Amino acid sequence: MALRIWNEYLKAREPRDRESACERFIEKMNSFTALFMGNPPLDFDEDTGKPKRLNISTHIYGSVPQEDTRLDLWYPDNKRKTECVATHSSLYPLMIYYLNRLNDWGLYFRKCKICGKVFLAKSQRYELCSDKCRKKQSLQSKREFDERARENNYDLLYKNECQNWRNKINKAKKTSGFPSERLKEMLAAFESFKKGALQRKQAVKKKEASPKEFSGWLLRQSNVIVKLAEPED
Ligand SMILES: [Zn+2]
Repeated sequence: MALRIWNEYLKAREPRDRESACERFIEKMNSFTALFMGNPPLDFDEDTGKPKRLNISTHIYGSVPQEDTRLDLWYPDNKRKTECVATHSSLYPLMIYYLNRLNDWGLYFRKCKICGKVFLAKSQRYELCSDKCRKKQSLQSKREFDERARENNYDLLYKNECQNWRNKINKAKKTSGFPSERLKEMLAAFESFKKGALQRKQAVKKKEASPKEFSGWLLRQSNVIVKLAEPED
């Protein structure tokens, strides 16, 4: 195609009337270059991975010259292992033909989740175009995992702290002579601790508070039960 454009360009330089030669050249090349003008012709359904039907009449000013729809296909060997395809004045028939062939070959159009590039895949399940993007994706998943792990870590801190409170309360229950008023206070403090923790945990989840703030609060609460469990002098 580049050769043909170059050839036509050389021919267009010959006549004296440069202006009309230029016109003729552009007109001749118009259907060739139409594919690259305007919107990219490749449009596909993101759900099915199938290309949308290419409507060439909108690309070529309403009517399609017959020459522009011509496509030659032949098989040079009788086993049909090789196929040759040629177009004459427009690249559209070639494109339409291969969009159908891709379908025959069971290939799907996919858009890479990482870089956004369109690529062909054997299945709809493919979401990444290359090893480079697969690496990027696994790094990203690791970061997300670490983040989740950190969040879970605060959850774990809370669970441990709850156990700490329960242990202190159970110990008090078993201690003979432990003031019952104090035990009631401990149970009430435990309820309000759990209530406060739940609210703060939700705030962390909604990113209204940092996990660090939550763990700091947990630590301060720990002193409450320690003090309540101490015997009075
Ligand atoms: Zn990619």
